[in-house]
Amino acid sequence: MANTPYPESYYAASANAVPPRPALQDDVETDVCVIGAGYTGLSSALFLLENGFKVTVLEAAKVGFGASGRNGGQIVNSYSRDIDVIERSVGPKQAQLLGQMAFEGGRIIRERVAKYNIQCDLKDGGVFAAITAKQLGHLESQKRLWERFGHTQLELLDQTRIRDVVACEHYVGGLLDMSGGHIHPLNLALGEAAAVESLGGTIYEQSPAVRIERGANPVVHTPQGKVRAKFIIVAGNAYLGNLVPELAAKSMPCGTQVITTEPLSEALAKSLLPQDYCVEDCNYLLDYYRLTGDKRLVFGGGVVYGARDPANIEAIIRPKMLKAFPQLKDVKIDYAWTGNFLLTLSRLPQVGRLGDNIYYSQGCSGHGVTYTHLAGKVLAEALRGQAERFDAFADLPHYPFPGGQLLRTPFAALGAWYYGLRDRLGY
Ligand SMILES: Cc1cc2nc3c(=O)[nH]c(=O)nc-3n(C[C@H](O)[C@H](O)[C@H](O)COP(=O)(O)OP(=O)(O)OC[C@H]3O[C@@H](n4cnc5c(N)ncnc54)[C@H](O)[C@@H]3O)c2cc1C
Repeated sequence: MANTPYPESYYAASANAVPPRPALQDDVETDVCVIGAGYTGLSSALFLLENGFKVTVLEAAKVGFGASGRNGGQIVNSYSRDIDVIERSVGPKQAQLLGQMAFEGGRIIRERVAKYNIQCDLKDGGVFAAITAKQLGHLESQKRLWERFGHTQLELLDQTRIRDVVACEHYVGGLLDMSGGHIHPLNLALGEAAAVESLGGTIYEQSPAVRIERGANPVVHTPQGKVRAKFIIVAGNAYLGNLVPELAAKSMPCGTQVITTEPLSEALAKSLLPQDYCVEDCNYLLDYYRLTGDKRLVFGGGVVYGARDPANIEAIIRPKMLKAFPQLKDVKIDYAWTGNFLLTLSRLPQVGRLGDNIYYSQGCSGHGVTYTHLAGKVLAEALRGQAERFDAFADLPHYPFPGGQLLRTPFAALGAWYYGLRDRLGY
């Protein structure tokens, strides 16, 4: 039987020790079968268990194998689309609900970390850094917009203030969100998995769902077992493949790359990011970075449409890091890896129900650490019969990518090239 390990990453190398979990080799019955042990699946499982459901999680590889164990670790609130754009698409009532929820995911993470004593190097403070005056103007208007939805904690940083939080010459200002922050993402997932088990949930690793038998009493098949459930939650995101063909048509897996330096001296680390906040810039193809608990710089950026793994990740990402911080020219890169996130055309999450009992959430298109935690809560609410917040997401319109499965990758790459060019020209 396949035994898929974690990709070689800094996170896998510094993961907290966990006991091995078995593969499913039986027929089992449960209330809810969750497919995928990333944040979406684990957050759903935790909320359901806390509300008395019996939960079985199937993971094709290992807990946090997907984006949840490989990401930049940035707790970025809100969605991958501005709330005013969402408002124009869905109207003021739905936008009000979505706007109110936009900073909830960060709170859920902190509650989880505190309640289950999860050791994941949680730090407060995230900065959106503007490279152009136009981007800074956009951040100013975003701050005003979020205040309209009751989120008043954001602080605008001018050119002088931003130098106090990040030693990058290129920034003209920024927006500080103290309800943002950063974590060791794999250790967060592992801690949440342990919490699931502490509440009586079961997690099977190396147990891919290979077929779903739909109907009033759905059954999920793995290579060596079956789960009979009242409900199914599909949480495989960019790693789901074609298990649910209806979902694959309106989303596209994309790769993004991350590097991690050797540990920096205390003085060098402090000179780069004196307050230990995480940073992402405001470009369409954005750079994002932060310090780890042991003072390495984790730096991510770049997108590969269609999720092919690039041959030399360091060659792609290191120049971006040196552009931001030329002072790191002699610093060694210890780890480089790639991971897949799921893009939708609108860059908003794809949420819904198939038939009466198969629920899904996927495709938050980049900023997913907080959204996926919120999604777990919203899906659990829907299974308990409170669907108002679920419906606010499920009503978001989604369309297939132009060109279909065959041509969607070159079309998306062309779009990204155009936006990347605008970034470089400062538009
Ligand atoms: C490199 C990278 C950097 C990122 N950086 C950030 C960041 O800094 N901040 C941020 O907010 N967002 C970031 N993101 C996005 C964020 O990580 C994701 O949106 C989020 O983790 C998605 O969680 P998920 O649970 O939906 O999916 P995943 O974490 O991908 O989990 C899906 C799981 O389902 C399993 N699975 C798939 N199919 C099956 C099946 N058939 N049977 C059983 N199991 C299955 C997979 O093995 C996987 O473990 C980043 C993403 C990547 C790839």
